Amino acid sequence: MSADEKVAVITGAASGIGWALAQTFARARYAVCVVDLDAETAKKRAGELNGNHEGYGCDVSDEGQVERTFAAVQTRYGRLDVLVNNAGIVGSQEPSISQDMVYFDRITKVIINGTFLCSRAAFHPMAAQKSGAIVNVGSIAGLTGLPRRNAYGAAKAGVHSLTRSLATEWAQHGIRVNAVAPGYVATPMVQGLVDQGKVDSARLCRRIPMARLGTPEDIADPVLFLASDAARYVTGVTLSVDGGWAAF
Ligand code: NAD
Repeated sequence: MSADEKVAVITGAASGIGWALAQTFARARYAVCVVDLDAETAKKRAGELNGNHEGYGCDVSDEGQVERTFAAVQTRYGRLDVLVNNAGIVGSQEPSISQDMVYFDRITKVIINGTFLCSRAAFHPMAAQKSGAIVNVGSIAGLTGLPRRNAYGAAKAGVHSLTRSLATEWAQHGIRVNAVAPGYVATPMVQGLVDQGKVDSARLCRRIPMARLGTPEDIADPVLFLASDAARYVTGVTLSVDGGWAAF
């Protein structure tokens, strides 16, 4: 690893937005740690990036797995510059009155606990370096009301709040914490909802001022900006990346 190479951990990086993030950061000359529940695909993806990258299987909601994964990253690279908390699940999208509490707990655990646990694990190497950037992937569901997104919307609002809280607490350690709030993005997560008839993409496009769904790359580039030195005086913000949805 060269002296000027930076290291980025990206969670949920085996698919969708996370995979676009991994490719974007690799192109920006970061060593990328592809972290995902799906260990096999994480390792395969890291290999596809073709460079000084690693794949790690990890459930971000499991404290022990998170601690072990960040320890392994530290052993492998000896530093950590960027964490992108991207791993997430959307759940079954049933009407709230029939919400299954097992799903409710799982969604909040992956999204809120996962974001917190990974951020806390990243704190130690970043604080030791006196520099680091954390970018959380929130959602328009955490900014506006979306029907049948009870746990998901609450969890994403929690991520936006956690972003502000950690930003104010960790600025003194040289760590910036920001978030993006994507609108609807064409990924396997959204395709699953379209396939189940729970999302009508033509109707959505009529609601979005820019009249199209986002691409994973539309989200990855603003995340790279927030992680970069170009955003050195930016912390605690949630940047809407939604084709104008939240402004409408
Ligand atoms: P996706 O389903 O394509 O990818 C999510 C990845 O996260 C998968 O590889 C999955 O294995 C991984 N993952 C799930 N649970 C995990 C866990 N416990 N530990 C580690 N990895 C785990 O989804 P996506 O659409 O790319 O979504 C990525 C992020 O963007 C999520 O946080 C999602 O909530 C958010 N988001 C997506 C959209 C959208 O329209 N697609 C909109 C707003 C926000």
